[in-house]
Amino acid sequence: MEYTRDPETGDYICPFISCTFRSGKSNQSTMYYHMQKHINSIYPFKCKYCSFGCINQKQLDIHMQNRHKDIVKTIEEKHKYFLKCPFEDCTFQGTKGNCIIHINRIHFSSTCDEMLIGKSTCNVCEKEFKSKSAFYYHAFDCMEFDDKLQVILGDLL
Ligand SMILES: [Zn+2]
Ligand SMILES: [Zn+2]
Ligand SMILES: [Zn+2]
Ligand SMILES: [Zn+2]
Repeated sequence: MEYTRDPETGDYICPFISCTFRSGKSNQSTMYYHMQKHINSIYPFKCKYCSFGCINQKQLDIHMQNRHKDIVKTIEEKHKYFLKCPFEDCTFQGTKGNCIIHINRIHFSSTCDEMLIGKSTCNVCEKEFKSKSAFYYHAFDCMEFDDKLQVILGDLL
């Protein structure tokens, strides 16, 4: 939608019916931002990747599919690839491997301490690992989980 101008004074006039806003002829940018406000309130769903706006999520999804197919694909791939830490209140995200290491290091740290001999040897299977991270990655294999934890950990096991 374009704003109109007062033919006599050159002022910019807001084209929205029932709005009486106008800005002086040297204040085109003020008018521009004022218009954006109207547009944002009519089209609250904004595309992150271009200036497109619409009235609901469905329209936005359709727009994303039509205009930004590649981005949609990349986002989907990422979601597939990245897992969220399944523990409540934890915001960690990473690959499956990163998640396992994170969970053992942060959420099961005391269990892991008990499982560790020296720097990086597993107490249970007596395998020695190159690094503590490698041990953390392994630790799930030698841990026992009750039913509740098995449900929480789900895909990670
Ligand atoms: Zn207005
Ligand atoms: Zn867009
Ligand atoms: Zn976590
Ligand atoms: Zn082990």
